[in-house]
Amino acid sequence: MQVKTDIDLSKKTSFGIGCIVPICYFPETIEDVIWCKKKFLNAPIIGEGTKVLVNDKANIPVLIDMSEFDSSYNVEDNIVFVKSGMKTRDLVTFLYNVNLSGLEFLAGVPGLIGGAVIMNAGTCGKNISKFVQEVNIINELGEVEILKNKELKFKRRYSTLQNKKVIVISVKLKLDYINIQNTYDVLTSYIKEREKLPKGKSAGGIFINHHTLKNYNLDGFSYGDAYLKGNFIINKGKATTQDILNLIRIIKNTVKEPLELELQLIGCKEIV
Ligand SMILES: Cc1cc2nc3c(=O)[nH]c(=O)nc-3n(C[C@H](O)[C@H](O)[C@H](O)COP(=O)(O)OP(=O)(O)OC[C@H]3O[C@@H](n4cnc5c(N)ncnc54)[C@H](O)[C@@H]3O)c2cc1C
Repeated sequence: MQVKTDIDLSKKTSFGIGCIVPICYFPETIEDVIWCKKKFLNAPIIGEGTKVLVNDKANIPVLIDMSEFDSSYNVEDNIVFVKSGMKTRDLVTFLYNVNLSGLEFLAGVPGLIGGAVIMNAGTCGKNISKFVQEVNIINELGEVEILKNKELKFKRRYSTLQNKKVIVISVKLKLDYINIQNTYDVLTSYIKEREKLPKGKSAGGIFINHHTLKNYNLDGFSYGDAYLKGNFIINKGKATTQDILNLIRIIKNTVKEPLELELQLIGCKEIV
């Protein structure tokens, strides 16, 4: 396992915002993850950093970064076991190559498969939860535990994993067999659809119930170097964590209905 010092999280997160972490562990094996969990129960965990807002002023002594973790897979008929270090976009390509279908809607979605399950990633009304059978985690005691789909209580962009101090190590997915031409067309249509998404440094969608925003004319609302475009908050370049949180607050105060946050906060307790 690699251990690196003074990691600048602003260079890692898709928001381009973060603090310097003195010690960062990069587990590669299940044994590494168990060791990390036993030693640093409360340490924040990060995957590819595409759904997180990290406090740029936080004092995070230790971080566990899953981006070097095992990304191997195993296929048995239409069941795929995939380790949580695999990139979601690579999984989509791999499934296409082995004639398995279902997750085309995740084509082009950034992040690792661990993060995708935790966030119940999806597009166009489809979510990964429909295909998840089981998730293997390292629990708070540093033990391997298998959680069935029902136990994860998936909702739009939510699973109970978000409230637990556990580390996802692998996922068991049940896919369909494909019709090659049809799946190719479906894949390309999802990729084309993504071209319409706002460009710039962001963490993807900010609010789970973002359809509510459509009733208000909030595009362009800004605070400091952060502005809203659709359901994305974009960092123009120098936005701070506080800018993002202030903008979220302004949007929430403007919209009459309660808005549920999709973004995951790291080290932000003291400023939320
Ligand atoms: C431009 C852009 C477009 C996007 N489009 C979409 C989209 O279309 N649909 C969609 O659903 N999402 C989208 N996202 C959001 C994001 O890509 C997904 O939520 C992704 O699955 C998150 O994976 P990650 O590895 O980056 O997780 P991170 O952002 O690193 O982490 C997310 C959360 O999971 C936790 N975590 C991560 N890995 C583990 C692990 N192995 N064990 C335990 N906890 C862990 C973190 O602590 C954090 O709370 C988009 C983001 C961007 C920047």
